[in-house]
Amino acid sequence: MSSDKFYITTTLPYVNGLPHLGHTLEFVQADVIARFMKQSGKEVFFNTGTDEHGLKMYEKAQEEGISTQEYVDKNAAKFIEFCDVLNIKYTRFIRTTDEDHIKAAQKFWEASLKNGDIYKKQYEGLYCVGCEEFKTEKDLVDGKCPNHNREPIKHSEENYFFKFSKFQDALLKIYKENSEFIKPSSKLKEMISFVSGGLEDFSISRRKENLPWGIPVPNDSEQVMYVWFDALVNYVTTVGYGENEEEFKKWWPVVQLCGPDNTRFQSAMWQAMLMSAGIEPSKQILVHGMILAEDGTKMSKSLGNVISPFDLIEKYGVEPLRYYLVAGLPTYSDGAFSYEQLEAKYKADLQNNFGNLLNRLITLAKKNSTKFDNKEVTIGFRATVDTHTIEFKTQMFEFNLYEAFEQIIKLTDFGNKYITEQEPWNKTKSPEEVYETLNNLNYLLERAIDAYKPLIQDACTRAEDALTKLENIILFPNLEDKE
Ligand SMILES: [Zn+2]
Repeated sequence: MSSDKFYITTTLPYVNGLPHLGHTLEFVQADVIARFMKQSGKEVFFNTGTDEHGLKMYEKAQEEGISTQEYVDKNAAKFIEFCDVLNIKYTRFIRTTDEDHIKAAQKFWEASLKNGDIYKKQYEGLYCVGCEEFKTEKDLVDGKCPNHNREPIKHSEENYFFKFSKFQDALLKIYKENSEFIKPSSKLKEMISFVSGGLEDFSISRRKENLPWGIPVPNDSEQVMYVWFDALVNYVTTVGYGENEEEFKKWWPVVQLCGPDNTRFQSAMWQAMLMSAGIEPSKQILVHGMILAEDGTKMSKSLGNVISPFDLIEKYGVEPLRYYLVAGLPTYSDGAFSYEQLEAKYKADLQNNFGNLLNRLITLAKKNSTKFDNKEVTIGFRATVDTHTIEFKTQMFEFNLYEAFEQIIKLTDFGNKYITEQEPWNKTKSPEEVYETLNNLNYLLERAIDAYKPLIQDACTRAEDALTKLENIILFPNLEDKE
């Protein structure tokens, strides 16, 4: 990937349910970064999609009495629709049942096999049917799977394994040579410690009779791929791996987003698989925080404290939600979701600060028939504005979203203090003084609008339009007035 290209991806949600708030956070974060990069002049590839294989899909489809393909089509459609509603502007929405992905996964497998990293072995162990995986004694609580509260069965199977253990040194080298490889640094430390502790080869296939819905293992009609060489490979499929080398070279390596539960898969297992297939590691792994319930506990169905993103969009609209997720919650640590804070943040930053400043300027500029000219912005004022916008960009290029938008809140705050101090409405002010104040503020607001665009595009488009036409608008209506 050359410096004028930028490739970013989310993880692919498993489509056995509806999108939850964690997906929402990840989609929005990725979308904001992608839009910002595009606005900064880069050519951007933004990948997202759905993970659609596995026994659960097959079983759910059976329950509903439809074909597995129909079942996954139906569920993938919900995620696509959700992205539309959320205003997620992806380049490709990949589905792991897509034909090019199936081919790419098989090519990737063959590359790894050729390098001697895939082997078959008889495996006997305790198997939880619910988890579709083998358990070790230490995974069990009172002899039962804690996820399913049932005893695993003794099960013996011949499967393919991936030589994960071989990549210990190579992984540690990546982590140690690039301290930014995983963000935040606490997650990098976690991975160094995990990999240093020794790696166990993991199983990457199942017998077809046990897993009827999956990608066939090349040259073995009795086996299908289990999770890893299927799901993770989408990040290379989507940019042409195995099909269009030139396109692939153009985009790779990737910046990947994932949640804390996914850190090990993305930054250790997947990276080892890439090296095995002879592909350069990802560029960076960004591990966002978890959204907790208001009291700081984990959201869970059993506790009944799960907040649905659909309900939030219904209640507040898309942009207030996008704003809160990115500018109101920490980017890399866990944050508690609070309705009160969402509303307060919207009111303080957007209504009272940004929106209010815009309307104050429009009212006065209209009255004074001001013609704005950025060449005439005063030097000191411009320097203050630019300090904030430069810091905004620096933070954005480092993917520190919360810190970046903090700068824009400071910027509009500065604008409101400035207008209050300058009193351009005061009759004792000369026309030159009034012009200077309003013209300066126009410069400030243009920068704020630019910065906010990747996050709240609709509001910014309307703000821009209002400023050009000098027409007062209610940019951010009261949330309770929302229909
Ligand atoms: Zn289980």
